[in-house]
Amino acid sequence: MTTIDPAVVGTYVDRLRRTQNELKTQGIDLLLVGPSSDLFYLTGFSAHESERMNLLMVPQEGEPQMVMPVLEAPLMKSISELLEVRIHPWAETESPSALVAKLARDVNGKKIAVSDQLWSVFLMRLQEQMDGGNWTPAAEVMRPLRANKDNREIELLRDVAERTDDAWHEFITTSIAGLTEEQAMLRLSGLMTDRGMGPSFGICASGPNSASPHHLTGDRLIQPGDTVIFDWGGIVEGYHSDVTRTVHIGEPDDEYRTVYETVLRANQAALEAVRPGVPCESIDAAARSVITEAGYGQYFIHRVGHGLGLDVHEEPYLVEGNKLPLQDGMVFSDEPGIYIEGRFGVRIEDTVVCTETGGIRLNEATRELTVMN
Ligand code: ZN
Ligand code: ZN
Ligand code: ZN
Repeated sequence: MTTIDPAVVGTYVDRLRRTQNELKTQGIDLLLVGPSSDLFYLTGFSAHESERMNLLMVPQEGEPQMVMPVLEAPLMKSISELLEVRIHPWAETESPSALVAKLARDVNGKKIAVSDQLWSVFLMRLQEQMDGGNWTPAAEVMRPLRANKDNREIELLRDVAERTDDAWHEFITTSIAGLTEEQAMLRLSGLMTDRGMGPSFGICASGPNSASPHHLTGDRLIQPGDTVIFDWGGIVEGYHSDVTRTVHIGEPDDEYRTVYETVLRANQAALEAVRPGVPCESIDAAARSVITEAGYGQYFIHRVGHGLGLDVHEEPYLVEGNKLPLQDGMVFSDEPGIYIEGRFGVRIEDTVVCTETGGIRLNEATRELTVMN
């Protein structure tokens, strides 16, 4: 059985209520949420993701309902009582989508929002059973809630970021030359586990691999003269850290120093552009103009950042074309990079929270040019 800390029951009750208000405001009749970070955000319940349908139904008014397999119903019993969510168990031979349709009653012409992470197979079955529904993505409903973190969420994000910094500071005191990328990543992950963080993800990209931003960590041997990028994170109570640091094995040449300094200045420029009301795309532009002016514009091949919270990538996205204004409480990455194919890449990534007075970094792992052995 999973349960939630009684001290935070109010948080979830409040989130469900605010979601219902949002549904009202946006003229949406029903919200459907499968096992996902949205479900965890609304109820504190980590549902089992499988071929058996688990679905939270949130109507504009009245009790939220949870349709779930009878064999898993005990997992949510305590939470459902605390949050007044009614559980509707379905038996192995029943059709859960038919049950959802029955509970939703007449959906003709009604607007139904579906959370982004519901498996398409479930959505297709639901659409078959709930003919005449007007389907829409739930991102518009969930974004105003999830993107604006409350104080507890920001404290958890700060906590996980600080532990991640601490792991890094120990990591860089030892030599990694002679290890494979996998071995180096394993060592860093171990330092994360030692600090009470759950596993999230980790990229170690060495030598020419560092020019591939999402490189798949492999068995290449780290050697003197390499640039090595570590992009990794951990989890505390569902909240992620996401940090990137680039190191050089042995003394770097002038070109590396120039690229490193440029990325660092871009990272700083993005941070300084953060303020409530500023459109997301301006943060990207702030970093990009530094890199472009230094002559490396064509090598900055991704957006400057993404939101961070229960998911490693979530709203808001700091990308050209996104006019969404930043708000107090939004948390996102600031991660400019320069990637010169076949040679090397540099990325420096921090987690930033937007406050009334500007951007504040949640992690402080050293940003100084770091030389390792
Ligand atoms: Zn990435
Ligand atoms: Zn990252
Ligand atoms: Zn990131």
